[in-house]
Amino acid sequence: MAEVQVKEVSPQKKLVTIQGSFGSAATLKEFEGGKSLALYLGPVTVNPATMDLNAREMGGIHLSGNGVLLSFRELPRYRVVANGPGRVQLELTTTLDGVQLQKSDTRQALVFQAHGFVTPSAAYDDAAGVIRLRFPGTSYTGSQPAVQSDVVQNVQVSSDDAGTTVQIASTAKGRFLIRRGVNQVTLELLPAGLTGKTIVVDAGHGGYDPGALGLTGLQEKAVNLDIALRVQKLLEQAGSHVLMTRTTDVAGVPADQLNAVPKSERLITDLTGRTDLANQNKADLFISVHNNLDPSGRQSGTAVYWTNTNFNADRSLAFAQLAQRNLVNALGRQDDGTKNNDFYVIKYTESPSVLLEILFLSDPTEESMLRSDGVLQNIAQAVFQSVQQYYQ
Ligand SMILES: [Zn+2]
Repeated sequence: MAEVQVKEVSPQKKLVTIQGSFGSAATLKEFEGGKSLALYLGPVTVNPATMDLNAREMGGIHLSGNGVLLSFRELPRYRVVANGPGRVQLELTTTLDGVQLQKSDTRQALVFQAHGFVTPSAAYDDAAGVIRLRFPGTSYTGSQPAVQSDVVQNVQVSSDDAGTTVQIASTAKGRFLIRRGVNQVTLELLPAGLTGKTIVVDAGHGGYDPGALGLTGLQEKAVNLDIALRVQKLLEQAGSHVLMTRTTDVAGVPADQLNAVPKSERLITDLTGRTDLANQNKADLFISVHNNLDPSGRQSGTAVYWTNTNFNADRSLAFAQLAQRNLVNALGRQDDGTKNNDFYVIKYTESPSVLLEILFLSDPTEESMLRSDGVLQNIAQAVFQSVQQYYQ
């Protein structure tokens, strides 16, 4: 009988201990480029109750024929602390190992190499004029980076008990986003203007799903699409690369794909189709267009949703605030503010992302506004202006 336990020594360091009645030291073998680590102990049974897993970077602990298999979400650094009959101990650490500047024709990026699963976040500090990138639970093993270019003036790395912080002084200011790769995090610094930006415009609902229904029968899916197509036109005229989740009255995935799944899974398949489009095409910004419904008829006005659950939350909020202000100015309806909510399409889109709830179809005045060509064009103009300001 053997026991496996994972203990967090500090946010940066974890100990995996296997102890029990095995007669020899373990033989270690890596699989999947180190994402799995087998410890051969000879014939042994492990008490499932002691397979205590409380570490986010670990994928799981499994029994193999002759020992224990540890799997990781991403390869951490590991060191064998003890290895003998009856007791094997590994130390796992999550580290940030260095940073490099990468240049393409249109943008520059800071590429961070990491060991282990890191959960970065970045925010723009307007007062200090720096982008602050945080890697909780990591220590920095590299040297102070000597990264400098026409876009990046200065990069400073510091580590403490909570993790690593990188401060970047850049002409990009708030024009940045994080992309995550395996054992790698990239901070992309974008040039000003709309040219070359990949923007996903998502017309909410469609096809089998009408969305909200207005008092006089206006369907949300139709209004959303009308607005989305107008936004597309304005962005394309300004040089953006626009990807539409739909351009007709269909769902977010082709009908044959949707029909292939049970009815209960259609909504998730539909929504996943929308987030996949953004993630697979490395979108810079995701804008989901919706209009609202309150069955009680009491609520009205404009709100813009963002979520703090994705690692570009700070940029999502920055865009949400611009869109909220511009839409309220354009429509003159009640300002319901920006709201933090993890709606599926903004939670699972990796880029900065917002969901607009422009007006209430359940409010007679607002439903009639949404029937007006002029109002729909003003809405599109307000969204377009927000993108312009966001990339200023
Ligand atoms: Zn909706």
